[in-house]
Amino acid sequence: MSNEDQEWADLLSPTRRGLLRGGGLLAAFAASGIAAAQTAGKSPWGYETYKEATTQPRSVRPGEQTLPTRPRAYTDIKSYHAHIYFDEDTFQKAALLHKWVAERFEVELGNWNLEPRGPHVTPSFYFGFSNEQLQVIVPWLQLNSLGLTILIHPNTDDPRADHLYYTLWVNRSQPVNAYAMKKPGPGEPAVEQIYPNTRPSVQLET
Ligand code: ZN
Repeated sequence: MSNEDQEWADLLSPTRRGLLRGGGLLAAFAASGIAAAQTAGKSPWGYETYKEATTQPRSVRPGEQTLPTRPRAYTDIKSYHAHIYFDEDTFQKAALLHKWVAERFEVELGNWNLEPRGPHVTPSFYFGFSNEQLQVIVPWLQLNSLGLTILIHPNTDDPRADHLYYTLWVNRSQPVNAYAMKKPGPGEPAVEQIYPNTRPSVQLET
């Protein structure tokens, strides 16, 4: 192996990549070095990756690093979000569900997201609702999903866990890109708040 290859391997070892990321240099490096390597017909990962040992990654699921001594209090949930996913073939179903929700429930209704936004990887809209509404809204969404994929997640002090591990899904699940979500920092609200903004005008069907 050439010295140049060894340099690449050293530069791109996992430890080294961590250092680069920490220094904010990885983006600049990726823009120049990796592109340059590929132009030169070389792997940007060096030629030693086959030797890397398989190490156990750190668990990111809450309560699994060591087994918890007691369950988490359900009262840590302060509110809920429902995220309704759609695409170019199902947007009319989403529009109808959006209208039905706004007519019937006092909730925090967000904007249309016609592109992936935040951790959501397809177009979506969302509404936030209170713990007290859960026992009506879950069965209502089960019967009125129109086949759409719906994520229902609680709002606790752990947004990553809320989106990845504390979820309820209607019909099926889809990927949620929430691994980088962080707990709120000092000075930020500990838990996401919801502020209802709809004016219901239709009596809920029973
Ligand atoms: Zn949400």
